[in-house]
Amino acid sequence: MIGAALHARGLRPIAELAADRPHGTRLRYLAGCKCFLCRRANSDYERHRRAVRAAGDWNGLVDAAAARAHLRKLARRGVGKRMVHAVSDVSLSVIDAVRSGRKTRIRARTERKILAVTTAARGDAVHVPAGPTWERIEWLLSEGFTKARIARELGAKRPALQLNRHRVTVRNAAKVEALWKRYQA
Ligand SMILES: [Zn+2]
Repeated sequence: MIGAALHARGLRPIAELAADRPHGTRLRYLAGCKCFLCRRANSDYERHRRAVRAAGDWNGLVDAAAARAHLRKLARRGVGKRMVHAVSDVSLSVIDAVRSGRKTRIRARTERKILAVTTAARGDAVHVPAGPTWERIEWLLSEGFTKARIARELGAKRPALQLNRHRVTVRNAAKVEALWKRYQA
């Protein structure tokens, strides 16, 4: 099954790729060889990856200009702050402050999260965990909204709230967030 799916995407299964590699390569390790050389190749790789990740996780202060330019570019292309917030998990207040220029320095990790948002966030293909969305929906329901009403507000054709419990599209997460915001005191 998996092999077929990979082939369909133009990728070869790992066993096939590994077959013509010498021992002492990580690919062969992943394909199932646990000989000394292959195990060592894999542990070298893991060590290297941990080091890169530790370095990449640096979280000092950086100039917010790059993030600001990126947010503005995304906005021009139809990815608003709520979508950026839903995909990146950076708070709306920080996104606002960066975009307006009020905040001139941000944490490196925040910058990385913002820069990682692409215009793909516009589409329905991008999913985020549904927890925060459902919390807002529960709140709306407790305030007297009906599910049908919420579904309508989300642009559903039928008055049924069909949202997955585990993951929702960025688009729906952003819509629920906007709806919730609109009815906050
Ligand atoms: Zn081997």
